[in-house]
Amino acid sequence: MTQPARVQIVEVSPRDGLQAEARTLPTEVKLELLDRLADAGLTAIEATSFVSPGAVPQLADADDLLTRLKRRPGIRYPVLVPNERGLERALAAGADEIAVFVSASESYSQKNLRRGSAEAVATACVVVKLAVARGLRVRGYVSMVIEDPDDGPTDPDAVITTGTALLDAGCVELSLGDTIGTGTPAQVRALLDALRSAKIAPDRLAVHFHDTYGQGLANVLTAIENGVTAVDASVGGIGGSPFAKGKGASGNLATEDVVWMLDGMGIETGVDVRKLAATASWMAVQLGHELPGRAARALFG
Ligand code: MG
Repeated sequence: MTQPARVQIVEVSPRDGLQAEARTLPTEVKLELLDRLADAGLTAIEATSFVSPGAVPQLADADDLLTRLKRRPGIRYPVLVPNERGLERALAAGADEIAVFVSASESYSQKNLRRGSAEAVATACVVVKLAVARGLRVRGYVSMVIEDPDDGPTDPDAVITTGTALLDAGCVELSLGDTIGTGTPAQVRALLDALRSAKIAPDRLAVHFHDTYGQGLANVLTAIENGVTAVDASVGGIGGSPFAKGKGASGNLATEDVVWMLDGMGIETGVDVRKLAATASWMAVQLGHELPGRAARALFG
């Protein structure tokens, strides 16, 4: 078994985490979160989303937040952009990296993006090309890569088709999302094998696992053993609170749990797990409920 010397953590709590929380945090608190995450050593932090404020009121302050964010050298701050209008807003607020979002499954694409997968991918590719032409780095999220709650298991060919389109349009990296968290290591390995056979190498991939069924760390380890060196995670598991009832509960994997595992394996992340865990404890207070991450509770109670 080989393992990489270093893994890039992509912290998604300020966007993917907070959009699923019942409580909308003040912009000042979000800016403090971004500062604390940078202090902990994270170098890729998804800052916010430029989706319609009506659709995601928790992130309605995206323009203000990104304008006021004090960027630090060496830290990337991607923002989610759903369409051309979102791209223009993001550019006006000073974005230099964006992420686009599609689904490998038909039902989730219809539910979440209100259009079929192929049409959503085509729209995303237009945004990617415009962004690349403006000099931005672009990540592509592909969700439901293992299974869709309505459609059942996702055909790896759908992930390949979707992912290839995004990469060809100019995405630097694909983030593969097991959005409902049902996947196990066998499925992760099979998917990565299928992608590799389709000439999508693991160095173009990040993994975005949800811990809904307790499979998150096992799936991260499997991905790393199969050549992936970028992992999305959310401090405290924000966005995945077992107390957040209903469809907002996304089951994000806690960043400090991932870092604890990688530290123990001697894989460098640049992240100080104690500072990160302290941030998780602080966020639990800000959000008004316990967070599902384990390491922070183990360290700080
Ligand atoms: Mg997520």
